[in-house]
Amino acid sequence: MQKDILIFNLIRKELDRQRNGIELIASENFTSLQVMEAMGTVPTNKYAEGYPGKRYYGGCEVVDEIETLAIERLKKIFNCSWANVQPHSGAQANGAVFLAVMKPGEKFLGLDLSMGGHLTHGSPANFSGKTYQALHYGVTQEGIIDYEQLEVKTLAEKPKMIICGASAYSRDWDYKRIRTIADEVGAVVFADIAHPAGLIATGLLNDPFEHCHIVSSTTHKTLRGPRGGIIMLRHDFENPWGLKDPKGNLRMMSSLLDLAVFPGTQGGPLEHVIAAKAISFGEILSDDFKAYGKQIINNAQAMAKSFMSRGYHLISKGTDSHLMLIDLRNKNLTGKKAQETLDKAHITLNKNSVPFDDKSPFVTSGIRIGVPAVTTRGMKVEHMETMVSMIDRVLMNIDDENTIDLVRNEVKEFMKQFPLYPELG
Ligand SMILES: *Cc1c(COP(=O)(O)O)cnc(C)c1O
Repeated sequence: MQKDILIFNLIRKELDRQRNGIELIASENFTSLQVMEAMGTVPTNKYAEGYPGKRYYGGCEVVDEIETLAIERLKKIFNCSWANVQPHSGAQANGAVFLAVMKPGEKFLGLDLSMGGHLTHGSPANFSGKTYQALHYGVTQEGIIDYEQLEVKTLAEKPKMIICGASAYSRDWDYKRIRTIADEVGAVVFADIAHPAGLIATGLLNDPFEHCHIVSSTTHKTLRGPRGGIIMLRHDFENPWGLKDPKGNLRMMSSLLDLAVFPGTQGGPLEHVIAAKAISFGEILSDDFKAYGKQIINNAQAMAKSFMSRGYHLISKGTDSHLMLIDLRNKNLTGKKAQETLDKAHITLNKNSVPFDDKSPFVTSGIRIGVPAVTTRGMKVEHMETMVSMIDRVLMNIDDENTIDLVRNEVKEFMKQFPLYPELG
């Protein structure tokens, strides 16, 4: 068979793009080489519908060992009693949680998308908003979760499930307070930790497992694994709503969730990706990863400080995590313009609505910036100032092609200090 040069050349081009640019998209990271290697291997050829020891196809004895290792390592990371490593993505993991907990038309409460929530937390464009009755809470004028509003809505509407977690929220969560509110109406608390999972894994942020019934995450953001999703329970529980399996038996929540992933929302699992997940979970259990988590926090703090010293308005005036949200209205810029111009200088980040934004989600008043990827590249606190000064120069000279060219060259030079996958030549 002839090698598909067209596609491999494009993959090579993408490697060069990643090497030469500054990656500040808060949801991105760079996996280790061994995580990537595992994804290009033979388990991709194997059908393994079902779970280890209970498959619908023969020849699963080896992938059973791989998936079992992934599950055991993940349980160790978060001190859990049950985990499912099959969801193909974070959205798939959340779809399965909905299917396990909710009947169509039932109510749930999640953070508003325009205040930092995720599409799968009840956007009208998403299955979660189309299939269920989505209610939302927001943040206060100061940019902190409005726990009072969350309580008022919970008591008035009695949702079956409350989702905590976000894609663009820089502060830690008061999971205990949310659980106390949920208990007043018997709601299930579901924490979607897709963004901060790596910082929770290293004990640097509050532990959602102490208070939340169900936890989901992606594996490719701060966890630095392959693209994928996971669902976990610290304590299994008998579902309190009498939810039954297809045979009419009352099932434990772990069993309802397993059924909701397969056959509920997925077919055959991606065992090559599960192998890569297992490798990344092994990496997370190492001391190196603890140091990585600490460096993320130090870098984010330094970057936030540097932006604020230049008069940028950070939502909630700072960050507890790996990301920050900047309102550009006092700089007379839109998120769209900032993203597009920084892109030309090979600084990649995303436009983002800020709380109480007066612009459309396509334009937005803000940008979201995260440091997990540059921290993986090896950046330390002193490099944050360099990057902020480059970003500031572009934004303050937004229509000056000269500045953009100069900064693009500086970015390329700067990134040479932080080699990416040198083994790939
Ligand atoms: C990224 C994210 C997801 C979805 O993950 P995908 O893998 O892109 O489907 C779900 N929830 C939150 C809060 C996220 O930030």
